Amino acid sequence: MTTTFDIDKLVRENVKKLKPYSSARDEFKDFDKEMVFLDANENPFENGVNRYPDPQQRSLKEVLATQKGVSSSQILLGNGSDEVLDLIFRTFCKPQKDNIITLPPTYGMYKVLAGTNDIENREVLLTTDFQLDVDTILSTVDVNTKLLFICSPNNPTGNIFNAKKMETLLQSFKGLVVVDEAYIDFSDNESWLQRLSEFPNLIVTQTLSKAYGMAGIRLGICYASEAIISILNKIKPPYNVNQLTQEKALTRVLDTDSVKNEIERILEGRSMLTKVLKDISFVEKIYRSDANFILAKVDDANKRYNELLAQGIVVRNRSTQPLCENTLRFTVGTPTENKRLIKALKG
Ligand SMILES: *Cc1c(COP(=O)(O)O)cnc(C)c1O
Repeated sequence: MTTTFDIDKLVRENVKKLKPYSSARDEFKDFDKEMVFLDANENPFENGVNRYPDPQQRSLKEVLATQKGVSSSQILLGNGSDEVLDLIFRTFCKPQKDNIITLPPTYGMYKVLAGTNDIENREVLLTTDFQLDVDTILSTVDVNTKLLFICSPNNPTGNIFNAKKMETLLQSFKGLVVVDEAYIDFSDNESWLQRLSEFPNLIVTQTLSKAYGMAGIRLGICYASEAIISILNKIKPPYNVNQLTQEKALTRVLDTDSVKNEIERILEGRSMLTKVLKDISFVEKIYRSDANFILAKVDDANKRYNELLAQGIVVRNRSTQPLCENTLRFTVGTPTENKRLIKALKG
């Protein structure tokens, strides 16, 4: 299939024709030198953020590229994964014509973005054990199916998907497979990043919002072939990742010890909470988690949600999601927060 894949066939005509906006900082890039910048109508008085940020976020991409074993030209950064996902929609999906496939129960933003971009969202339920229904997914594909969204580890179910099944989908589906790895750092399983060169139709998204503890700065990461990234770059707003975010993100990704340490503590919290939940009388089932949260089936989700709320603890009631009747999703907190949760659960 590698020989037949042609990314140009998937790109919208208007995007193909588009000439990207060329910002002052795109035209002249040598920031590091002692230059006088009179090109961008900025206020010249230094305050740390008076200059436009690097539109290509080169320092940050270089570090990520080294850490992840890809090239900088295989990375696109956005204002959270949400912007990255929206860019993917706008690059490949023609409104009122193309469609995408999502696999509920899953992350709600894919559906929202399909709606805002006026793209048909074809939903194929996961199997009852929250795995991929490969046959149904493939039979739902038609000539206008551009994207397949696979969230692995999946939110809200917490599980990683079977790699062989994902491989089948990557090989058989001729559109783009977007693997959302927002929670990959909490899993023992390998990222699909390692396999980008094998699958020209693979896009992997990650984020600093979860394991890296930086939800507030909004930084989403998209990894794909150089061909895909250069097309996405054409429609990316020039200064989509602000200066403060670039600086904070760079400091954080370089601090690998702290990030690792926090992930370990969250994983300890996850296994501790899993054990405790098993002994709670109203908990009927705990689903295996590869993420920083635990999905549990309870006797009456609304009742238990409100009981926890009354004790000052906010969890997520996922009961309205298909296959998730009477489920609550518990994010792993600090040791102190987890203790409070346990106390409240034990009433
Ligand atoms: C939290 C989450 C994200 C993160 O989105 P950001 O916009 O980067 O904060 C992405 N995908 C999934 C499935 C998530 O749960």
